[in-house]
Amino acid sequence: MATLRDYYSRIGVDEKKLIELNNELKVNSFTGITEIVHDKRLFSLMQAKSEIWGHGQSMNSKEISDELFSSHQNMKNWNRKITPIYSIRGFVIGVARPGKEAAIDYEKINHYSHCTCDPCSNGQRVLGANNPHDMFPYVEKDNVLMSVKRRTLKNGTIKVTPWTFEHIFSLIENAYISNDIQFALELLGTIIVRTAFMLDHEKDDLGVLKLHIPKVSTLEMTNRLPTLGDGSTEVPIEALIYFLDILGFNEDIKVDVCGYRNLQREYSRNTKPQDSGRTNTLLTISHMLAAILHRRPIGEFSYGLHRGLGMNAISKGKIIPAYPLLAPNILDLLDLELDELNWSPQF
Ligand SMILES: [Zn+2]
Repeated sequence: MATLRDYYSRIGVDEKKLIELNNELKVNSFTGITEIVHDKRLFSLMQAKSEIWGHGQSMNSKEISDELFSSHQNMKNWNRKITPIYSIRGFVIGVARPGKEAAIDYEKINHYSHCTCDPCSNGQRVLGANNPHDMFPYVEKDNVLMSVKRRTLKNGTIKVTPWTFEHIFSLIENAYISNDIQFALELLGTIIVRTAFMLDHEKDDLGVLKLHIPKVSTLEMTNRLPTLGDGSTEVPIEALIYFLDILGFNEDIKVDVCGYRNLQREYSRNTKPQDSGRTNTLLTISHMLAAILHRRPIGEFSYGLHRGLGMNAISKGKIIPAYPLLAPNILDLLDLELDELNWSPQF
């Protein structure tokens, strides 16, 4: 039976490297972490709802989708307000506003049945509203929108679809071609777990809370897998992480507007911080990566994704067995057999 030590040795990662990475990535405990990071998440929600990343002018749904279709190759022509947030090797990752749900004629937002806003608690549940803070996360290079799939239709027109979970899943799955890359994807999944809980977010000189990706791990990851996608859709792997981070800000906005006020839910006994929003979305990506790496059962992941209407966060107790670099001390895990970590059979 193979141990975790045997596994890493087979894919060419030595113990010294594991310890170095573990020192940067370790998390003391995932128990109670939602409460511990809540203030930081709340600050990030307020920041995203503020005017720091401008809300832009009023637009309707057609104006927003027409602009995406006509000017995806030249974002300078956008009427939407564009705010760059991160940059990496000539690529810029930021937000455009208004997002689709912020269009003045958008009316698909229904408050949750447990929402406690004034109209909802007075029996007038809010249905058919818009989400005024919605934003469109993007990756661009030289004003060309990169976080899209472009497909030429039979009649010659180009169909433009902004990145969906499917695109992100296939970018990752298509990269998985060697042991070197297997370890790069493990690092990617590990960093995404940390990003879900905002463990690497710090305020910059202007007081803006932003992601600072762990340096040693990022270098190790990019040495093995610098980019995702190919040809005209190739982006630095860090661009995906930054994109997911901005998606995370926006996911918190979405659940806040629907009734998890300040990312909390009121129960009969007390009010509790929720994992819905950023945490749920990013841990779904980490779960998918764990399934691609044969560390979580694909059936369980996909059935849960169906049942969860597109969301299936990896549960807190399963994070460390799937991503051992997050353990408080990886040396405690190295002699465990892969069976004991509940990994799917490895080849
Ligand atoms: Zn409400």
